[in-house]
This record gives sequence, C-alpha cells and structure tokens, in this order.
Amino acid sequence: MLQSLGAETIEVRTPADLQGCDGLILPGGESTTQLQFLQEEGLETAIKKFAATGHTVFGTCAGAILLATHVKKPEQSSLGLLDMTVLRNAYGRQVASDVFFSPSSLKAEPLEMVFIRGPVIESVAPGVQVLAEYAGKPALVQKDKIMAATFHPELTDDPTVHQHFLALASSQNGNGHQRRSRK
Ligand code: GLN
Repeated sequence: MLQSLGAETIEVRTPADLQGCDGLILPGGESTTQLQFLQEEGLETAIKKFAATGHTVFGTCAGAILLATHVKKPEQSSLGLLDMTVLRNAYGRQVASDVFFSPSSLKAEPLEMVFIRGPVIESVAPGVQVLAEYAGKPALVQKDKIMAATFHPELTDDPTVHQHFLALASSQNGNGHQRRSRK
C-alpha cells in the first residue's frame, strides 16, 4: 500500500534500520511474540526514542496493542506510546474476523475495516482523537504523530489511512516539534 502511494519502504528488523525512516508501521500479528522480538532486538528502546524525537508511528491490530499504555486480557507490557486501554481478542466470535464499513473523519464515505481477531479499544485518555469507530468503540485513534487501528487498512484497496500516515510522517510539526507560527 505504501509503495503504491509512492513511498520508499524498508523492513525494520534492527535499531539501525530505523535511521533515516520518517515513519514506522507496527504490523498485525501476535503481539506477545512481537513484544518478545522487540525486546530481544533492542527495538523496544529504539522505537520509544524514535517516537520521542517526533517521528510517526502507526500500529495496526497487534501493533495497536503494542502502542497502548494499558493492555488487558491478559495483561502484558507494551511500548506505552498511546494513552489508551485495549482488550485483546475482545470483539468476540461474531466480529473476530470480518469486514465492516464504518464512518471516519478521514473521508466522506464509510471506511472499510478488516478485523482479524483485533483488540477492542476500551477507553482513550483525553487528548487522544478518535478518527473512526466501529460498534461504538474507537477503531482508529491518534495523538500527535502516534496512530493506532484495531483493523487492517492494508488489506483493502482503500489508501485513505495510509495516506494519512504518510502525510503525518512527512510533516515536521508533530509531537514536540511544533513549528513556531508568527503572530
Ligand atoms: N490477536 C492478536 C493479538 O492479540 C492480534 C491479531 C492481529 O494483529 N490481527 O496479539
């Protein structure tokens, strides 16, 4: 999806790979395994530093779990970069893995959301923007340059969410890097 939008992409497997990146996507998968890998490779510290220096980080599904400050069902540690509470695998059997359309603030038409045993965002702290909801729960959220989706936008033909990610990644006025405006 990023390549089809003209972005240059690499797979980040070590802290050194992050150098020169404007943004990072933490993909779906199994968050407990991913967390272990991040810790083993020193990527946990490197990603926190990457975010703290104003870079864009977007977590989809398991990636969203890794970004949340609080993870339940079961509890597990995380990068804690986005102030929200998530419940793993909490959509239940009916919507555990299915495709839905739901409104978002990113486009006029409903956004296609592919859920694959996704987490439910139970609550977000004040200041975290909810860009889209599904079934009354936040499904796409953002605070400054950190974004999380409980669904998989890369599995659709709709580039809206990735366009938003690329716009954030290429902007210089994110978290802690506000451009001064003249009065
Ligand atoms: N169920 C997975 C987890 O809890 C997430 C699934 C996904 O990323 N599609 O880690």
